Amino acid sequence: MTGLDHRLRVLRRYVRAEAPALRSTAQELDAHPDGSTLYPKVPLLDRLATLQIPRPYARDPLVIEGHEYFLTSAVERVVFHEEAAAHGDAALLLSAPGSLTAGMLVAALGDDTQQRAFFERVRARPTWTFLAMTEPQGGSDAGTLHTTLTPCDGGYLLNGSKRFIGNAHRSPLGVVTARTGPGPLGIRCALVDTTHPGCEAGPLATLGMRGALGTLDFQDVFVPEAQVLGRHLSPTRRGMWGWLHAFNPLRCVAAALGVGIARAAHAYAHQHLPSRHDLGRRRLDTLGARIRGVQSLTRFAATAVDADPANAHLPSAAKSAAADLAVEATSTALRMLGPGARLEHPLLDKWARDAFGIECMEGTSHVQSTSVFNALTRADTAPR
Ligand SMILES: Cc1cc2nc3c(=O)[nH]c(=O)nc-3n(C[C@H](O)[C@H](O)[C@H](O)COP(=O)(O)OP(=O)(O)OC[C@H]3O[C@@H](n4cnc5c(N)ncnc54)[C@H](O)[C@@H]3O)c2cc1C
Repeated sequence: MTGLDHRLRVLRRYVRAEAPALRSTAQELDAHPDGSTLYPKVPLLDRLATLQIPRPYARDPLVIEGHEYFLTSAVERVVFHEEAAAHGDAALLLSAPGSLTAGMLVAALGDDTQQRAFFERVRARPTWTFLAMTEPQGGSDAGTLHTTLTPCDGGYLLNGSKRFIGNAHRSPLGVVTARTGPGPLGIRCALVDTTHPGCEAGPLATLGMRGALGTLDFQDVFVPEAQVLGRHLSPTRRGMWGWLHAFNPLRCVAAALGVGIARAAHAYAHQHLPSRHDLGRRRLDTLGARIRGVQSLTRFAATAVDADPANAHLPSAAKSAAADLAVEATSTALRMLGPGARLEHPLLDKWARDAFGIECMEGTSHVQSTSVFNALTRADTAPR
């Protein structure tokens, strides 16, 4: 699927109408990255906060023109996030309350009791959550993590540090990956309440996606046995396997944000470039064609991952193409608007800084290339 059916076009129209309200708040957040109280002013984010909840636990889908949207399929998420980034702002979406990343892990690895507790809490009121994997030593190789869950009476003690974590500094709860023993089977995911003693969270200063990221440090944080995800699954399915599958749809969302940033920059340059600038207009046409190509790839990847959640290579290909595209589109737009563009067009300057964030989210392009290469050399996915 690369074109949108009527139902998805209705969703896109709704987001397109609501998203421009994000822009002024996004600029406020860029100027004051710790402004977590900004969100209730933005109705689209308020609505997003109680979506992306699996149907058995959702009570209040978005209903537009008689169509219901839970935003749990990769295709719906891609349409929503691309449009909200194109007409609103990608960084603000990442800094918003809701269950996007943690919810994916809880849905993939949680039992019924864990899912009910987590999603009911998120549904009750806009709640920030996080998924903490990346550590100060590095995030690409998830298998070498150092954070530990050590068995104790009634549960585990959590020790370690996490860095570059979306919304870590404003979330009361989230999912943390940690090691209970050696090797890939010794890695587990646990729901962690950050108000517990021994847990410290703080904001992380960044150049782009300002306000979105934070840090977490755990010192002997007690995690009850009931909060460890995947207890009902076989040992091979409860750790890395589960999160690797949850990452495939998330990569499509990251790609959609990249396409959205590129579209925002492209539209901005179109609007602000003098009409007599023929060469610039032709360059923008070429960029527009490239944007449509990556948009198609992203939608195709989302459709593929909805059909088969184990499909890793298409989301990886889309994510790395979109990361390049976002940087190319924003830097092209800045170049076209002249040497003073960063000062004269602060919103475009912000998107140009944000664009670099897409590269690292959900794994760098080097890591995505490995996934694409593996698929190309495997008998069942190799092109004939
Ligand atoms: C906007 C944003 C949001 C994020 N949100 C989250 C979040 O919510 N939760 C979370 O846990 N993390 C999050 N991250 C962190 C992100 O997942 C990591 O930045 C990413 O995994 C890369 O890890 P690293 O920065 O530690 O780089 P490293 O892993 O230290 O890698 C450094 C360099 O080496 C390259 N490299 C590493 N291994 C290989 C290899 N095997 N082959 C080839 N090259 C390799 C990498 O491509 C990179 O260029 C976020 C990052 C950003 C920018």
